[in-house]
Amino acid sequence: MEKGQISVQTENIFPIIKKFLYSDQEIFLRELISNAMDATSKLKTLVSKGETNASIEDLTIDVILNEEEGTLTIKDQGIGMNESEVKKYLNQVAFSSAEDFIKKYKDEASIIGHFGLGFYSSFMVSKKVEVRSKSYKKSKGVTWTCTGDPEFELDSNDKKDRGTEVKLFIDDESKEFLEKQRIQGLLDKYCKFLPFPIRFGTKEKITYEGEGEDRKEIKELEDNLINNTKPAWKKRPASLKDEHYKDFYKELYPYSSPPLFWIHLNIDYPFNLTGILYFPKLGNNLELQKNKIQLYSNQVYVTDEVKDIVPEFLTLLHGVIDSPDIPLNVSRSYLQSDSNVKKITGYITKKVAERLGRIFKKDREKYNGHWQDIGVFVKYGMISEEKFYDKAEKFALLKNTEGKHFTIDEYKEEIQAVQTDKYDKIVMLYTNDAKAQDSYIKAAQEKSYDVLVMDTVIDNHFMQHLESKLGNVTFVRVDSDIVDNLVQKDEEKESVLSEKQQEKIKGLFEAKLEDKKNSISLKALSPEVHPVVITKPEFMRRMQEMQAMQGMDLGPMGESYNIVVNTNNPLISDKLLKMKSKEKKEDFVEYLYNLALLNQNMLKGSDMTEFIKKSLEFIK
Ligand code: ADP
Repeated sequence: MEKGQISVQTENIFPIIKKFLYSDQEIFLRELISNAMDATSKLKTLVSKGETNASIEDLTIDVILNEEEGTLTIKDQGIGMNESEVKKYLNQVAFSSAEDFIKKYKDEASIIGHFGLGFYSSFMVSKKVEVRSKSYKKSKGVTWTCTGDPEFELDSNDKKDRGTEVKLFIDDESKEFLEKQRIQGLLDKYCKFLPFPIRFGTKEKITYEGEGEDRKEIKELEDNLINNTKPAWKKRPASLKDEHYKDFYKELYPYSSPPLFWIHLNIDYPFNLTGILYFPKLGNNLELQKNKIQLYSNQVYVTDEVKDIVPEFLTLLHGVIDSPDIPLNVSRSYLQSDSNVKKITGYITKKVAERLGRIFKKDREKYNGHWQDIGVFVKYGMISEEKFYDKAEKFALLKNTEGKHFTIDEYKEEIQAVQTDKYDKIVMLYTNDAKAQDSYIKAAQEKSYDVLVMDTVIDNHFMQHLESKLGNVTFVRVDSDIVDNLVQKDEEKESVLSEKQQEKIKGLFEAKLEDKKNSISLKALSPEVHPVVITKPEFMRRMQEMQAMQGMDLGPMGESYNIVVNTNNPLISDKLLKMKSKEKKEDFVEYLYNLALLNQNMLKGSDMTEFIKKSLEFIK
């Protein structure tokens, strides 16, 4: 037996290891299993090169919980270590890499995935660690023990089988890691897709035999295997059918509805990256769907926070990205500036755009059908990523109130003739609430204008973005004041009233609505247009919407609107003018005004009550 001191260069790092990643102690298990995987994979490589004829029939890694003893063991059948290797790798390599890691990141709370701490992370949860190992080369087994200070003991043993067992004597503060459920949970989280089988004890399997009354329940114990060693993203795309992709999606997110379509990522130059990204059914609650992509490094789970690796809009996608080229023991701020990560971001963005473009070209019908779900995603991408915009401009869709889909170019073509204003801008009319703005939509359609539906959370930003990118397009809400001005160059008709009569009408409205502080104007529109129309200043409304999105309130400014009196509507030109008593006229003006408010969904509270009372009287 040999006793020794692990060479400590600066200070005793064990207490630091213990406390360092307190919130993330659980990663010790991933680190140890990763080591076991590495040792196993090395052995396989040696065998394939013919450097050893060791049996590799069974390479299962066992995780063994012994509650009575208070230990957790990770046991592999990999290359193992002999005495000098244990000294070298555990006392020097492992120690110095842990020391480096801690020196570097002592003050950095967010190290992505906390990779790099390696073997010594076991001291975060253990009062003693015992390693028993036997090399694949002919040599005696060896036992290394260390109690969490820089002293270690080394002894030979009579271990028969090849490989390494790391036994952790769990310390009193970390008792949770002696709970079966907790370990099962961790294995499910970190090891679900590791390349060699992992077994965690046994589990009960229930089968049934016989029929009816004779039906018997048979309980058997079977190996509790943790992982799918050949996950779909590691397979060749050509070998997979739609069903396989869907099944894999279910494996990742058992409770989600099936994905719409997917992209299989596979690149090995200039960086190595595999993965499958799915377009989920997004629904209305974007937050619910966000941040579900899982990041792996050689099939080892790292994190599901990928917002520094993929562009923000892509965090709406689901699936897996696996890349050993994403630096994992670095802080998040470093990650964003890493050149590999930048390349990866660009690559994924490009692939996603290409995939969408292909579906658009190949199956327009299907693409249109999916627009409801992918629209928000595409718009988000166009706003936030220049490169994505350039590609997506060709397959972004606009939907009108009749449910027809157009690309931007198609739509321009469609409406150009009728909806170009005097400044040669194409005016795209839209509604953000088809029900509430129904009468305006009808009115627009009567003039053969088309109306788009822009009712998702992102549409305000999207329209602004399109305006600035396209230059010759302007979006105008269907109930806006400029619908008339901009689009209807020839809309204003000859007034059927004389100047004097018009003055009179204006006077009536001004007198009655003088306290309303809104502009009143007369217009000679067609007789079918309502007698009083309320429009909101487009510019003001937009400002307000933008500000509301940022959580600000403009207050009274939002109240202002325009009152347009259509002097050609018979109710004005005929009925109102012919009324005898002043009182009747005032009542009528007020009534028409309220009707216009109602049409805009702006008649509220006691005004509404009063209006209904009046209406009932009129009917009588
Ligand atoms: P890293 O794995 O990053 O090299 P570690 O501290 O985890 O750092 O491990 C240090 C070294 O110890 C490894 O490089 C490896 O040579 C050796 N080692 C650790 N665990 C095992 C194991 N289960 N089987 C064989 N060798 C191992």
